[in-house]
Amino acid sequence: MSDITRYYPQLYALSERLLAAGQLAENNPHKATACLDHPELMSIACIGIPSRFNPWETPAFSNVSYARHLQIIEYLSRTDASAMMLLPGASLSTRAILTQGNEQQQARFFACFAERPAWTFFAVTEPEIGSDAGAITSELTHSEQGWRLNGTKLLIGGAMLASVGIVFARYQQSQRLVMVFPDEAKGTLQRDSLDTVGLAGAGLTRLTFKDLCVKEEDILGHERRELLQGLNSLSMVFERHRPMVAAMALGTTFGLLTALDTRPLPAAVRLWVARQWRKYLAIYQQMLTLAEGYSNGQHQHALTSQLKRNATRLVEETACHLPHWLNRDDWLDDRLLRKRYRDSFAFEYMEGTSNIHLLNSFRPPVPKGISL
Ligand SMILES: Cc1cc2nc3c(=O)[nH]c(=O)nc-3n(C[C@H](O)[C@H](O)[C@H](O)COP(=O)(O)OP(=O)(O)OC[C@H]3O[C@@H](n4cnc5c(N)ncnc54)[C@H](O)[C@@H]3O)c2cc1C
Repeated sequence: MSDITRYYPQLYALSERLLAAGQLAENNPHKATACLDHPELMSIACIGIPSRFNPWETPAFSNVSYARHLQIIEYLSRTDASAMMLLPGASLSTRAILTQGNEQQQARFFACFAERPAWTFFAVTEPEIGSDAGAITSELTHSEQGWRLNGTKLLIGGAMLASVGIVFARYQQSQRLVMVFPDEAKGTLQRDSLDTVGLAGAGLTRLTFKDLCVKEEDILGHERRELLQGLNSLSMVFERHRPMVAAMALGTTFGLLTALDTRPLPAAVRLWVARQWRKYLAIYQQMLTLAEGYSNGQHQHALTSQLKRNATRLVEETACHLPHWLNRDDWLDDRLLRKRYRDSFAFEYMEGTSNIHLLNSFRPPVPKGISL
């Protein structure tokens, strides 16, 4: 296992900033985001955005391989995964626009990055049918008045501050990905911030669309065949981001285990902690192997699901014991540790719960002509 700080020694100092931002995030998100305003953090946040659209790229964080990117996410999450999620920049929608959008759509989507690193959102989840993406009810319609979008999306990360987002909507018998620009929505898009117990930095939001006017050129792949649309396009987007959730869960586990290592604990508990470290190392290695396969163009749906499930289970399993094993006053005094504990239970719900992965991970290979 390589130490990522050998390649990027500046990560030490950037972690300090994340620590400060994370402490502010739950009560004062505005101040917390101001804390993150640092060129190299912004460059990391924009990894994945092509250079031609990305004025925030710094030499140190250009051409970062997928494996190194995952290692950077894991390292920064050791300090505070929630603060990492507060960062603007690349998101699920970046991947969607790069795989499904044409050159003009990509230019329109990334235009907001010219002034500052912008927030973007990717809206799939809806009330009542979160895991069943095929049953979404948000609807794109076409009439003489043009294209309209109606519906409600729930638990959408980063949408309060976003300049642009992509919405997964039903259109007749299939689904479409639609670009939405909140500043142009003029009363047809309502954004409500949601209270959360863990990962407050995700900035979860409810979005309500009421006859939102959509330009035809903002519908991704509008002119292409249906195979590239719908659930297929979602799975291509998630394939890249699920390992990032695993990386955040692994980094959080590192933080929890390190906290246990620094405390006096009974021998039996020490043995248990040592076992958790071994599991952590094995899953970290699995993450690197998966990253290599992904970079070589392999389709690894089942392995990706397994990695996410292993990492999210490890962080929850580790967190569960903390309040029982720590001295009561120690537990009550350590606000940061209790925050990390709360964050630990939110990863499983990001990008598909474990049950859904168990049900769906063994899918047939992607048809020829579709590349990841
Ligand atoms: C931090 C965070 C960030 C998020 N960001 C986004 C975002 O940016 N965009 C977005 O679209 N969504 C986002 N989500 C939402 C996330 O994708 C959903 O929470 C997830 O899909 C689960 O949906 P749900 O909460 O409605 O739970 P449900 O689908 O209601 O599931 C509840 C429970 O039932 C189980 N279950 C459901 N169906 C079945 C079944 N058929 N068989 C067996 N068990 C089943 C699930 O496994 C789960 O344990 C985010 C969530 C979190 C926590």
